[in-house]
Amino acid sequence: MPRTIVAGNWKMNGTIPETRELLSALLNGPSRSERAEVVVCPPYPSLYVADEMLAGSHIRLGAQDMSAHEKVAYTGEVSAAMLLTVGVSWVILGHSERRQYHAETDQLVNAKARLAFSSGLTPILCIGETLEQREAGQTEQVVGTQIDGVTAGFSPEDLSRCVIAYEPVWAIGTGRTATPETAQEVHAFIRDRLKAIDAAVAKEVPILYGGSVKPGNARDLMAQPDINGVLVGGASLVADDFMAIIQAA
Ligand code: PEP
Repeated sequence: MPRTIVAGNWKMNGTIPETRELLSALLNGPSRSERAEVVVCPPYPSLYVADEMLAGSHIRLGAQDMSAHEKVAYTGEVSAAMLLTVGVSWVILGHSERRQYHAETDQLVNAKARLAFSSGLTPILCIGETLEQREAGQTEQVVGTQIDGVTAGFSPEDLSRCVIAYEPVWAIGTGRTATPETAQEVHAFIRDRLKAIDAAVAKEVPILYGGSVKPGNARDLMAQPDINGVLVGGASLVADDFMAIIQAA
């Protein structure tokens, strides 16, 4: 049985005062679950403060992206080594917004994932089809190509150290969630595809669902056999909602 993970992607939310407020609410509320690992991913400038606040707690710290390079003259990039110094242990890679607005490709996400492994970070590798692609009946083709691309050359050990997030682009920030059955179908397809790397390891890889997850739909989504947690955007910014989702796990 794969681990269950509830991760919050704060996107461009979380100034330092907002970070303090949200994390205090989580640390003082029912944000602990017997079953789920909890990860929050604030923006870069708030990571240091978040690390100080979360030290010794059950909440792990993640980043929303990182550079594919270690230390070169790439203005504006943030390296894995820098993330490690502020207590980050998880990193979201290939989010659809990075793909859409920053032209990130499967190949780049793959390079970042390899760097995450060698740095000791756990990557959450995001994939998902657009509405146009779904309506054209291309979901499996698109998701299959993405999963093959982001995991290209992975050893079984690499696979055992990553988390996949299926985030249909049409469900992110739209309030339009995939039904548990629709999401399960794609999750089962992804797991099957991962068996090409290692059948036994593929069974244990956590595959998260992301896309308008709310307290009201989290339980049914996570009740599906291949949905091993959630990647939450908007609802992770409301402490009570995020904690309700953690409790739904
Ligand atoms: C996300 O940002 O990855 C996401 C799934 O957002 P939302 O939950 O707001 O749809």
